[in-house]
Amino acid sequence: MTAQLELRGITKHYGKRVVAEDVQLSLRAGEFFVILGPSGEGKSTLLRMVAGIETPDAGSIFIDGREVTHLPPNKRNVSMVFQNYALYPNMNVYRNIAFPLKMQFFPREEIDEKIRAIAKTLGITDILQSPVNRISGGQQQRVALARAIVRSPSVFLLDEPLSNLDARVRFTARAELKKIQQELGQTFFYVTHDQKEAEALSDRTGVLHQGRLEQVSPFEVLYNEPETRWVGDFVGDVPMNYLPDPEGGPGEEIGFRPDWVELDSAGPLSASVELAENMGEANYLVCVTPEGKKIILRSVVRHGPGETVRFRIARAQRYGSDGRRKPSPT
Ligand code: ADP
Repeated sequence: MTAQLELRGITKHYGKRVVAEDVQLSLRAGEFFVILGPSGEGKSTLLRMVAGIETPDAGSIFIDGREVTHLPPNKRNVSMVFQNYALYPNMNVYRNIAFPLKMQFFPREEIDEKIRAIAKTLGITDILQSPVNRISGGQQQRVALARAIVRSPSVFLLDEPLSNLDARVRFTARAELKKIQQELGQTFFYVTHDQKEAEALSDRTGVLHQGRLEQVSPFEVLYNEPETRWVGDFVGDVPMNYLPDPEGGPGEEIGFRPDWVELDSAGPLSASVELAENMGEANYLVCVTPEGKKIILRSVVRHGPGETVRFRIARAQRYGSDGRRKPSPT
């Protein structure tokens, strides 16, 4: 089966700054793919190169098996939803959604049919005549999506589309977006810095760091088997812990998450609590080992600064001195 979207060796610089370095990626049809990374790592630029708004210095882009690297945006069969939705403020909802179809000279009846259908799917039928500046942020997001969907592109490109919504609405909007994508069976290429979004939405997530894809896998694999220490530190509520690997070579360390540790008064290891922070159901304990290494543990029982806790590491990964994961888990 041809990939819906394929990136081969995509490289891009802004002056001396590398924003994409040899990016290889292949998206399956119907896949929800998330590009995740801190801000300034090149996520938007990657999306804009797929859209055709930016040109790569090297590499090629294929959509539906057709090379589009040097085609203008309107010849690529992609739709983009921007962070600020870029709705036309002087038009009502209906005319906003109709706009891309009018530009393609669709007949009026066909435009109307398409808009009614998409409005029904997205639950915005009753606001079709409202001016876009009178509807809520969540509704604006759905209108922006409707406008993107109505052209039935091969790939949807979404650049942080939920970031302008307040936290409560964002949660619902996220669930809706996932549902819509599944109903449409469309391929989504989605950029965010928010790992909760990647976790909730993605079939697979690609972690971007300094223009390089550090790891591409389902989100739970990013959490459980980070390929690099950088991914281990970036993914999760707190960074991964590292301690020297007694069985490993020089510079080798074991990496483990707070929830892979069992606190147990008969445990083989000990650490002294420096700080305790209550976060919902668990207490995070910032501890120091007798060797002076800082680690973060998790406890259901409260512990205070100065206390010594004993523990055992139930599960861990091994990392070489190059920061890369060693294949066999300990
Ligand atoms: P992200 O989406 O991960 O936040 P961007 O792709 O927006 O990252 O930007 C990556 C880097 O490239 C940033 O340092 C940004 O300042 C820089 N950058 C983005 N667009 C341009 C441009 N048109 N010209 C020069 N530098 C740019």
